[in-house]
Amino acid sequence: MQDNDFLAPVAPTPIVHCRHCRFWDAHMISVPTRTPEGLCRRKAPQPAIVPDDIDTGTSWPRTFEDDWCGEGVPMDPA
Ligand code: SF4
Repeated sequence: MQDNDFLAPVAPTPIVHCRHCRFWDAHMISVPTRTPEGLCRRKAPQPAIVPDDIDTGTSWPRTFEDDWCGEGVPMDPA
């Protein structure tokens, strides 16, 4: 018998893929990709890091629909 035989089972945290996350803004970005792509709007956008002569404003992280992270929140069922 081992010490961890007495630990209570812990339910795994379900993964929320981007396509099911309330923070995902799905849209195809000009270049076709292997799977639909969107923008993660979980956090405020970051300044885009680009050459000084190009103004692209801000940058939202791009993710694929089958990506996920530990901060995903499921969309409300409606
Ligand atoms: S990266 Fe995380 S928070 Fe952002 S859309 Fe995907 S699951 Fe949601």
